[in-house]
Amino acid sequence: MFEECLAETDLMLVLDGSKSVTKPNFDLVKEWVKRLAEGMHIGHGHIQIGVVQYSYFHPNRPWRRQRFIKTEIGLGQYKTKARFDAAIDRIRIVYKNALTIGNVLTNYKGLAHGRMKQVADGQSGPCKKCALCGNHGVHKAMVYEQCIFATRSKDIRLKQVLDCKNYGVYAATCRICKEQYIGQTKNRFSTRWNHHRSVWKEHDIKEGNDNAALLRHYAVKHPELFATYPDIAECFCVTFLQQPPFKDLDACEAKWLKITQATINIQKMVLPRVR
Ligand SMILES: [Zn+2]
Ligand SMILES: [Zn+2]
Repeated sequence: MFEECLAETDLMLVLDGSKSVTKPNFDLVKEWVKRLAEGMHIGHGHIQIGVVQYSYFHPNRPWRRQRFIKTEIGLGQYKTKARFDAAIDRIRIVYKNALTIGNVLTNYKGLAHGRMKQVADGQSGPCKKCALCGNHGVHKAMVYEQCIFATRSKDIRLKQVLDCKNYGVYAATCRICKEQYIGQTKNRFSTRWNHHRSVWKEHDIKEGNDNAALLRHYAVKHPELFATYPDIAECFCVTFLQQPPFKDLDACEAKWLKITQATINIQKMVLPRVR
């Protein structure tokens, strides 16, 4: 009857391997897991069991670098009870201060298969709905989706997973010459870029403020292309660099300006007025 109920079941167990658990208690839990597995007849192939040991979550790290969240037994990895038990016996408690187990529970699927979600750190996931992300193919997607951000002097591995709904500091990189522009926003990146896009469409480089910097770059550096009224997405790609607390936005922007030596920003300050 019991077997009937659990037909075709995937069961992922999360063992608390943090300091709050003593080794004798951890061993008790291991024995309990073995007893639980006994009633499930894993050899029949209907029920797959996996085991994850969790002791700590690094908030700013990608899943593949969470060394304190370990897939001890992949889902359905062992087909016999004896091998499953032996694998349970081999598990050693990690003993790390726990932060929150909720992070594990919400990502159990990736853990169950012994691999982490492919959303690496610094990777910007496209919503595909806003203009920045391509808007169902109406616009060309502008978001640079790699976690390695190339500047003139070095490659930088981005630490945060940001998308168009985040705010913060962003870079626009010229698709032709790779020169860069750094900007910040307290609104969503997608909202900020709607504004960039509308300024771009005006095609007016005389505008005095910051918003025309991207246009001026094309007018000065790529005048032939500029003359064809290209779509902004054809000219720049966008990288979401960092989302600091609001109060640190200016400092964060300054930091990225320094790192990137963003010539498109600098240009607007040193170039004479373009007619
Ligand atoms: Zn989007
Ligand atoms: Zn350029």
